[in-house]
Amino acid sequence: MTRVTVLGATGSVGRSTLDVLRSLGQGYSVSGLSAGSRWRELAQAVREFRPRRIALADSEAAAELSRAVDLDGASLYAGPNAATELVASDDADVVVSAIVGAAGLEPTLAAVRRARRVALANKESLVMAGPLLLREAARAGSTLLPVDSEHSAIFQAALSGRREEIRRVILTASGGPFRTKSAEELASVTAEEALRHPTWRMGPKITIDSATLMNKALEIIEARWLFDLDPARIEVWIHPQSVIHSMVEFVDGSVIAQAARADMRLPIQYALTYPERRPASAHALTIDDMAELRFERPDFERFPALELGYRAAREGGLAGAALNAANEVAAEAFLAGRCAFVDIARTAARVMDEFAPGAARAATSEGPHRAELSLERIWDVDRRSRETARRLLGLDDARDGSSAAAPGCQWRPRDANGVADEVSAGGGTA
Ligand code: NAD
Ligand code: MG
Repeated sequence: MTRVTVLGATGSVGRSTLDVLRSLGQGYSVSGLSAGSRWRELAQAVREFRPRRIALADSEAAAELSRAVDLDGASLYAGPNAATELVASDDADVVVSAIVGAAGLEPTLAAVRRARRVALANKESLVMAGPLLLREAARAGSTLLPVDSEHSAIFQAALSGRREEIRRVILTASGGPFRTKSAEELASVTAEEALRHPTWRMGPKITIDSATLMNKALEIIEARWLFDLDPARIEVWIHPQSVIHSMVEFVDGSVIAQAARADMRLPIQYALTYPERRPASAHALTIDDMAELRFERPDFERFPALELGYRAAREGGLAGAALNAANEVAAEAFLAGRCAFVDIARTAARVMDEFAPGAARAATSEGPHRAELSLERIWDVDRRSRETARRLLGLDDARDGSSAAAPGCQWRPRDANGVADEVSAGGGTA
């Protein structure tokens, strides 16, 4: 019996994971389930899967859950550290890490220290703390298996050769809903438009990340750590059909691609059953799906977030934490109609300027792997990056009610002389 704990069980990946567990049936049981605040949905899953451990980050939601469900002796953890506490006392064989954002870091770290296998969807934890997670995984003898479809594709394709035979990897990207929009048009797109992803149904944060291509930037960093790749060997190709999920080119020029319908249940299942493959209900590809596969070069001008991913992957150290924190603040502000789409990458770039040079020094003097990345330093940069991002976006002002609070953004970064160099037009969904 393989015992599985699902962190972020009420989210898009979490629900798909429960679907996979339903279809795998015998041989798999659920040992723990966690969520943020959606206790009703969690309650349903608890009734169905009967886990021994349950966690809710929102304490009031936890109280509601315990009133609504007979827990039958199961442990209920509540509060911001609930998922970490759950994992730390868990006996799961596999932990599926599918909390969104920085909140996934500590539970993932706890899982890496504890479980045999961590099926990782929470890419933000690798972006923030890649070397730390890998070090702890090596120490504890646990395995990190990718759930992200591109990284699952690379993982599968890489099995065709030896590590040192890999020449480069090609990360594919759908290009998101704004692939064909001009720079002028991008200045005024809304969150509602950004949420209409052409090929994937996902949670709101990653959907915004897909529209800015920040998701691909985070995935460059994810690939850099997960497969120990020099960022110069990671290429991004836009592939609007989302059929080829990524490719690996070997030294003899052979390119191995992994193709499948865009359905997260496949990479989730593979991470659970690896090294075996099990029959799956996801529809098989047809010749029509493959008939018109297209690939384009990404446009770094219109989608400047992409370069930030390379930059953080090259610099290592704390650069990923700064990028991630700034992006989380800005993406959330954009979702709330409080800044323009183009402000997301702009803010992230400025935050990196402020926090990444130290990381660059650490990377060159000690090597990115050995730079002592402590949780303490990561959270410190995370906190300060968020503050800077909020300041750049004028979010704190608006909260105090001390600003004119025009709809959209009041992004007034200062240049070296303290002069405001840019104020973007409001583009949010005010
Ligand atoms: P989602 O928003 O649909 O779900 C997020 C889950 O995390 C929910 O269960 C929520 O309750 C929980 N959560 C949120 N904040 C929390 C907190 N502070 N503490 C504890 N739990 C919290 O997100 P998603 O789309 O399922 O994405 C989850 C992760 O997987 C992200 O890191 C994303 O980048 C990654 N991912 C998602 C997809 C996809 O298809 N959705 C694909 C690849 C990778
Ligand atoms: Mg992906």
